[in-house]
Amino acid sequence: MTPADISGVDVLVIGAGNAAANAALAAHEAGARVALLEVAPREARAGNSAFTGGAFRFVHHGVEDLLRLAPDIAELDLASIDFGTYSQERYFDDMGRLTEYRCDPDLTEVLIGGSYDAALWLHGHGVRFQPALGRQAFKVDGRFTFWGGLACHILGGGAHLTATLHAALERAEIPVLYETMAVGLLHGDGGIDGVRALHRGRPCEIRAGAVVLACGGFESNPEMRARYLGPNADLAKVRGTRFNMGWGHRMAMDAGAAPAGHWSGAHAVQWDMNAPPYGDLTVGDRFQKHNYPFGILVNARGERFLDEGLDFHSYTYAKYGWEVMRQPGLFAWQVFDQNATPLLREEYRIRRITKESAATFEELAAKLTGVDPAGFLRTIAAYNAAPRPDVPFNPNIHDGLRTQGLAIDKTNWARPLDTPPFDAYGVTCGVTFTFGGLRVSTAAEVLDITGAPIPGLYAAGEIVGGLYYHNYGSGTGLVAGVVFGRLAGAGAAQSARQGGSPT
Ligand SMILES: Cc1cc2nc3c(=O)[nH]c(=O)nc-3n(C[C@H](O)[C@H](O)[C@H](O)COP(=O)(O)OP(=O)(O)OC[C@H]3O[C@@H](n4cnc5c(N)ncnc54)[C@H](O)[C@@H]3O)c2cc1C
Repeated sequence: MTPADISGVDVLVIGAGNAAANAALAAHEAGARVALLEVAPREARAGNSAFTGGAFRFVHHGVEDLLRLAPDIAELDLASIDFGTYSQERYFDDMGRLTEYRCDPDLTEVLIGGSYDAALWLHGHGVRFQPALGRQAFKVDGRFTFWGGLACHILGGGAHLTATLHAALERAEIPVLYETMAVGLLHGDGGIDGVRALHRGRPCEIRAGAVVLACGGFESNPEMRARYLGPNADLAKVRGTRFNMGWGHRMAMDAGAAPAGHWSGAHAVQWDMNAPPYGDLTVGDRFQKHNYPFGILVNARGERFLDEGLDFHSYTYAKYGWEVMRQPGLFAWQVFDQNATPLLREEYRIRRITKESAATFEELAAKLTGVDPAGFLRTIAAYNAAPRPDVPFNPNIHDGLRTQGLAIDKTNWARPLDTPPFDAYGVTCGVTFTFGGLRVSTAAEVLDITGAPIPGLYAAGEIVGGLYYHNYGSGTGLVAGVVFGRLAGAGAAQSARQGGSPT
């Protein structure tokens, strides 16, 4: 296929990840002729969406809603699982609290209001879901209790999501032009009517009735990370694709689009200190290490530097990567005893892992590369000796089992580390995606700096600004991509029909 083969479509979607595929399918279902441009070769397509673990946060009112998405749930022992519910109000509260009340309320309302429908839509296109047992609910006294509202994951994560969405594109005969990087928007009298692109390095122009930008954030670009996220952000590892270079942001702002959201903010987690610079699809998201609430974290001085038990990991993991980044040497070690081992997720048992074990803390101290052994032993002694209330440990609730009197207390799940052998996992900062993006309307139209929609230009996914500030609740990114992708695709189809036809 060549650029000429797709030039003149009604809707041209830039990118081939979750937001792009859903935009393309929605535009197709609205009657438009659609094509996608993807900078990556086919085997590296779909950006961060190919790497995702598949957590999917949506409003639900209990098990009946979940059964529509994951009928296999009926075969579980439902008497031993409390899925709870997740209301619109709770979702709103979570978004507000996590973003320090900065998230755009109108966009957030659209996101939340469309979240369950987004799951049904994906299910309708063949995407399978499973309950997030062991990730969002632990077994205590024979019973799983969901604590975070996030009930389901996409079964098979990013690999399944990508394969399923691309199979749907193929069934709809929507072409994807690979190895083609959009580098600029074509601005005709009626609005945006195509892009300038590089197809296998050769410049070309591709005309379209409307354009949807679904080409991700700028997390893959060290120059932009340093420029916007601050010192050392260029040294962070990138958890996913190496292709999200922020070109969509540049093209749109060159065409008059307004920036929005938290441009100096990004989602960043604790990630194996020896992981490669960009994601590796054979490992996927498993370089992450999310069970720190059940242990402690120490830096190069051997000191703790944050409250590991501040909240469930879903509500702290996306900001604690930055805390590791602020430590000397940009690394930390997560330390656990055997009481924690049964709670550790599969990602702690992969082969490519930075792990040390020892029967005593003295032995472990000598093994932790870069850590001051004396400082480490002082930290362990103080942590273990700190007074605690006499309450039972319970990983499904904020159990209030906290230390008292430490410089930084651990405020939940603070069991002493007293059962050898002791295990430690080396982590650094892994950036997931950036928060700064384009200003869009509630219909996913890209707005210019006066607040008016730029005719023929839509955006969805990570490139949209205004949803996340400072922090993020797990499972929101994919939902946002589907909700705004569908709106962008339908809107672009309508725009193309109403005269944004190619010049
Ligand atoms: C390791 C990892 C785990 C994650 N886990 C979860 C999770 O469990 N739940 C969740 O909700 N979210 C998760 N996320 C976040 C989630 O994956 C993203 O929010 C979502 O996939 C973004 O979708 P998108 O379509 O906006 O961008 P992407 O999927 O990144 O797609 C962008 C596409 O645009 C292409 N592109 C970029 N620039 C250009 C250009 N100039 N021209 C043409 N093409 C271009 C890229 O190659 C890519 O295909 C995770 C992310 C990572 C990295």
